[in-house]
Amino acid sequence: MNASIQNIINALKEQKLTTFASTLSLLNVILFHAPFYQYVLDNISSGWNSFFIVLSLVLIMFLANFLAFTLLLFLGGLIGKILVAAFFMCNAMSLYFINTYNVMLDDTMMGNFWNTQYSEASGFFSWAMLGYGLVLGILPTLYIFAVKVKTGGFKRFFATLGITIGSILLVAGGNTKNFTWIDKHAPVIGSLLLPWSYTVNSIRWYNQQKKANAKEILLPDAVITDNSKKALVLVIGESARRDHFSLYGYSRNTNPLLTNTPNITALLAKSNATYTTAGVKAILDSQESDDLYEILPNYLYRTGVDVTWRSTNWGEPPVHIQKYYNATALQQGCTEYCNYDHMLLPQLTKAIEQSNSNKVLIVLHTSTSHGPEYNKKYPAEFETFTPVCNQVELAHCTHQELLNAYDNTIVYTDYLLHNVIDQLKSVSTFETALLYVSDHGESLGEGGLYMHGVPMAMAPREQYEIPFIVWTSSANRKIKNVQEIDQHYVFHSVLKFLDVQSPAYKADKSIF
Ligand SMILES: [Zn+2]
Repeated sequence: MNASIQNIINALKEQKLTTFASTLSLLNVILFHAPFYQYVLDNISSGWNSFFIVLSLVLIMFLANFLAFTLLLFLGGLIGKILVAAFFMCNAMSLYFINTYNVMLDDTMMGNFWNTQYSEASGFFSWAMLGYGLVLGILPTLYIFAVKVKTGGFKRFFATLGITIGSILLVAGGNTKNFTWIDKHAPVIGSLLLPWSYTVNSIRWYNQQKKANAKEILLPDAVITDNSKKALVLVIGESARRDHFSLYGYSRNTNPLLTNTPNITALLAKSNATYTTAGVKAILDSQESDDLYEILPNYLYRTGVDVTWRSTNWGEPPVHIQKYYNATALQQGCTEYCNYDHMLLPQLTKAIEQSNSNKVLIVLHTSTSHGPEYNKKYPAEFETFTPVCNQVELAHCTHQELLNAYDNTIVYTDYLLHNVIDQLKSVSTFETALLYVSDHGESLGEGGLYMHGVPMAMAPREQYEIPFIVWTSSANRKIKNVQEIDQHYVFHSVLKFLDVQSPAYKADKSIF
């Protein structure tokens, strides 16, 4: 008997890298994820598809941990072992805080953590915490250092990496239809996956700090060249795809109001990105750049234009103007339709007519077509197409129900734009214009894809073909006959319309 125990100990003492990394990954999946399993089971319906989602998540978690541990142990040697042990230690502490205080390890929480003083942190000590540390941190650490790892050659290492990454892609690829469920629950799920939550969210927090403190590169000074009164409303759309607007030839009447509005021009446009932050940045930037240049509202505000920003969305580069109102600010004093983009509309006429400046820019950053719960983005009276998909697990909806819900958001957008135009029409003292441009498009199941965010080089056209709609109060205002334009046209067109003369202005990129 002693001999057989000795054999097991010997076998444990010396392990192949793949065996060791698998064991650690399995331990990680079992020891630290009870809150994760609890959350998923509480938020998913019963049935085979749900079982499939849970299985896929666990598999991806196992494979991703395996990949990270393999990389660390092969490339890092002893340092790799120390890092893996540190992950187990941090996981143990994280699990203690999740179980005890119900904390969500998101970017805000990691920011709090990194800003915590030692004196505050020591107040958290408890015997239970010590227990978590000993059982889930120290014991695995002893095991990690007791094992002698046989790493094997580079050939075997790269083969292991290839197979692991391939398997992750395969599991993810089989789940495109469940992506909307995962996307909706991503903030919580992401905060419960250890060690990914605190690692990734610490990096995110650090990047946000860096970005918030980044100085924008100023554009050369501009001047306003005349005293004529001009006001422009720029409406930034969310996930609006061009081919679902009847103005662009969609077979369903999703634009009952705009279709009968004179002086409307619908231009063909392409977004410069397929996700919000980059799309909005391109709309406000004078040119394509990864650097932070002075954006349109900041630039015009500095030049003396009266600039207002109203938003029910997020993700724009830092806006430095006086009249900046996010959703929370707009909700104060809101009396009806306060969960919808109606909130952006009040008193545009007054804001323009009572301005102290001859040049006015109002930006409305909408959120209407944001998925996956399209049916929650418009008031009931805009539910034109029925029945609608009313859940995030798209496997439970028919394709037609999904299209109906999405198309209703376009009907609502039609109303919002028409309302803005109506208000602009009643401004008698200014020449006015409306520009409506979406941040990116949206996939609705074509090629098995949903939502957006596919890298531009591979993105399907649904994710970048966007509406670019123009209305002008004066029928004499000529609009160029341009072919498919990009989002930077907004910057130059606004400068042109408001008579702002700037060295940054490019005449060939103005639609006026
Ligand atoms: Zn977006």
